[in-house]
Amino acid sequence: MSMNRAVAIMGPDGKLLMPNLVFGKLFADAELFDRINRDAGANNGKCERQITLADGRAFWVETIPMDGGWLVSAYSMTERSAKARTDTVTKLGNRLMFHEQLAELLTNPDRAGTGAALLVIDLDRFKAINESLGRNIGDGLLGQVAERIRSALGHGDIVARLGGDKFAIIQAGAPQPQSAAALAGRIVDLIGRPFLVEGQLIDVAASAGIVLFPAGTADCEQLLKNADLALHRAKGDGHGTYRFFEMAMDEKMRYRRNLEIDLRRALARGEFALVYQPQFNLRLNAITGFEALLRWQSPTRGAVSPLEFIPVAEDTGIINSIGEWVLRTACLEAATWPGAQNVSVNVSSIQFKNQNLVATIMSALGESGLDPRRLELEITESVMLDAGGTALATLQNLRQIGARVALDDFGIGYSSLGYLRSFPFDRIKIDQSFVRGTPNDATGRAIVRAIASLGHSLGMATVAEGVETEEQMARIVSDGCTDVQGYLISRPMPPEQIGKFLAIRGPNAQ
Ligand code: C2E
Ligand code: CA
Ligand code: CA
Repeated sequence: MSMNRAVAIMGPDGKLLMPNLVFGKLFADAELFDRINRDAGANNGKCERQITLADGRAFWVETIPMDGGWLVSAYSMTERSAKARTDTVTKLGNRLMFHEQLAELLTNPDRAGTGAALLVIDLDRFKAINESLGRNIGDGLLGQVAERIRSALGHGDIVARLGGDKFAIIQAGAPQPQSAAALAGRIVDLIGRPFLVEGQLIDVAASAGIVLFPAGTADCEQLLKNADLALHRAKGDGHGTYRFFEMAMDEKMRYRRNLEIDLRRALARGEFALVYQPQFNLRLNAITGFEALLRWQSPTRGAVSPLEFIPVAEDTGIINSIGEWVLRTACLEAATWPGAQNVSVNVSSIQFKNQNLVATIMSALGESGLDPRRLELEITESVMLDAGGTALATLQNLRQIGARVALDDFGIGYSSLGYLRSFPFDRIKIDQSFVRGTPNDATGRAIVRAIASLGHSLGMATVAEGVETEEQMARIVSDGCTDVQGYLISRPMPPEQIGKFLAIRGPNAQ
């Protein structure tokens, strides 16, 4: 607040109680006080209006309700305009200021000189910090981040906080792309160093997206969108890095957006189906279960692989409703099988974050009448990473219901033994890449053996996935796996073929 801000306290009757010196000098008009009083009275104590003095000077008047009246403050319109363009947390410019500056630069290409760059920066993990340490610390951190960004800027660079933990910079009149790359690199480095906020040591990382202009686009929104796409890529490529926008990112985004639109309709239009791939137990020499695999037959795209649409469904949250459909359908269909084979359903880590998962599974079981012990949920390690402590509680709930749990795609990713110890999985599914490998792949084979023996000592079954040849089969048998799944046993099949398949291949035929 500036030193010469005009402030006063006004009683409920509109009488001025304590005008400060500036207020007293500027405003002496009883009629004006009346008006403020009436406005505030009619509006829960709040009045905001512009007033113009007899000499033509314009002021902005605001009231804040307080005990027995209002606090009135007035400041010049220039000050108001600056205030409207300043972010209160970081004291940087705000979104409004940034848009105005960007628009001006775009209409004045001369100012851009040799070229200009737009950078957007955002913090990784900020939301978690804000939630766990509180808003005060969050705000304190943002203030320090703003300070570090400011310290990296060159003369004439414009910086703003666009909102949340997102900052933007316009760098004009510097040789590109090297100047933007240098600036982004510096900022990512500076923000990557620890912060001390109210006695708390905080580690964050920043990612940055950069778009150069003028280069085709001359539209603020498009530029910001492109910078966002580059930012998104930077995050995808590992946090604490920066990326330049490329046209291909836009195309990829468009493709994903169209896929998303089709995906949203697919459930209601009945375009999904499940196919089932048999799982063979080596000790019992029998088909003991089937994995449900999702298929999407789109009228316009044809058959779309789950490897392509599941990630989009996960990013957009559509996986929650699709996953529920999969669970219900798999339970209903498995309940009609001639034997008591298990049905394995893939559950995404996004579904695990959903509070309703256990209730949905119970309802799917109840509706279908399927014995809970016949349902196996396949999860990946990302469930433990993404859903954290709640994941473990959910797993325990599922176990209590009687369902089985398998750890899918083991061997790739983190493959932390800690996860195996933290929950007694029924089965470990060894990722196909180790099972198939290359014929002389010694490492892959050693991994399969190690997992099989680990499973044995932990009392967990081990399923070798993706077995295609007799040779691979012989290998995994000698490596000690307990179960097999793969094209050698059978490709996934539609539900109507299961009865016939079991008649020929089951229960003890191979
Ligand atoms: P996954 O869970 O590892 O499933 C096994 C994948 O390997 C399936 O591909 C299956 O058809 C394929 N496969 C099985 N045996 C062989 C083999 O011998 N050789 C080869 N080359 N491939 C084999 P699919 O059906 O395309 O599914 C791919 C992935 O999509 C699955 O990998 C799973 O992560 C995901 N997915 C499929 N259905 C669902 C679902 O209902 N929900 C969720 N969340 N994910 C699903
Ligand atoms: Ca699976
Ligand atoms: Ca798998």
